[in-house]
Amino acid sequence: MKKIYFISFVIMMGLSPDPTSAQQRPPIIDMHMHTGLPHEVPPGTPALCRPEPCNGDGQATVDPEALRQKTLEIMDRYNIVKGFLSGVDWSDVRTWKEEAPERFIASPFIVKPDKKTLANLETEYNMGHFHGLGEIGTQLAGIPPNDPSLEPYFKLAEDLDLPVLIHTLGIGPYMPHFRTSAGDPLLLEDVLIQHPKLRLFVENAGFPYQEEMIAMMYQYPQLYVDVSTITWVIPRSAFYDYLKAFMRAGLGKRVMFGSDQMVWPEKIGAAVEAIEQAPFLSEDQKRDIFYNNAVRFLKLESSKETTAMDKMKE
Ligand SMILES: [Zn+2]
Repeated sequence: MKKIYFISFVIMMGLSPDPTSAQQRPPIIDMHMHTGLPHEVPPGTPALCRPEPCNGDGQATVDPEALRQKTLEIMDRYNIVKGFLSGVDWSDVRTWKEEAPERFIASPFIVKPDKKTLANLETEYNMGHFHGLGEIGTQLAGIPPNDPSLEPYFKLAEDLDLPVLIHTLGIGPYMPHFRTSAGDPLLLEDVLIQHPKLRLFVENAGFPYQEEMIAMMYQYPQLYVDVSTITWVIPRSAFYDYLKAFMRAGLGKRVMFGSDQMVWPEKIGAAVEAIEQAPFLSEDQKRDIFYNNAVRFLKLESSKETTAMDKMKE
């Protein structure tokens, strides 16, 4: 039905049926974008890959201006209408947002949850610069999500009703203080009990803590996840096995698309294709992951797509 409507729309508009054109692609929301990496890499560095030994492809774009341009071009190509964007350098995040105000939900990357950062954050929110919190990447510094130092951050996010992204999973960058053991999703339980209204989503669906993550999602309905880096950093078969487990568990309405492109904007396309090519996902499930679940989670008003579909049903 959707397809027929779409084809007739294309004919009406006199558009050529080029499968790569953005107008033909339904909208996507990318819940996991960055203005760069939390640590520096030389230009041209191949993309991350796991598990080693493995060979990453692509070349890092480290110049902030070039990275922004390339990212926006690829967002256009895939009709990515919005991105949840964070960066360690908050001024970069503000610049991206100023350049493309409709495209990004600007949010600060948090590594060290000290009092000074918290005070600065309150100022940023008061000035209207940020509309999300995180990625909270304190696991990179070995700090688990239930560490008392994060408590005022969660309280602030709950009070301001902000969407919050957290890195709580088994893998991360090779940084000296990163700890896998600080990424068990069960560690989120204290946080969710303390802050029942917190709108939290977990990077990479807590990979590879599948059972722990599913248990948490069953028990805490407010908890969502993204599938971002795992769409391209681990073997495709491992990603599909993992995603399939969440779909089989009935959690397809709480999984959101992300790219986590960092300094490899080409990986946005790889991430989109990983979902598009998943043989076990129906078209409706793909639309939920790409768009509908994020609209609900972000409390965005009903989209043009929904309106068009509703009209068809009338
Ligand atoms: Zn990230």
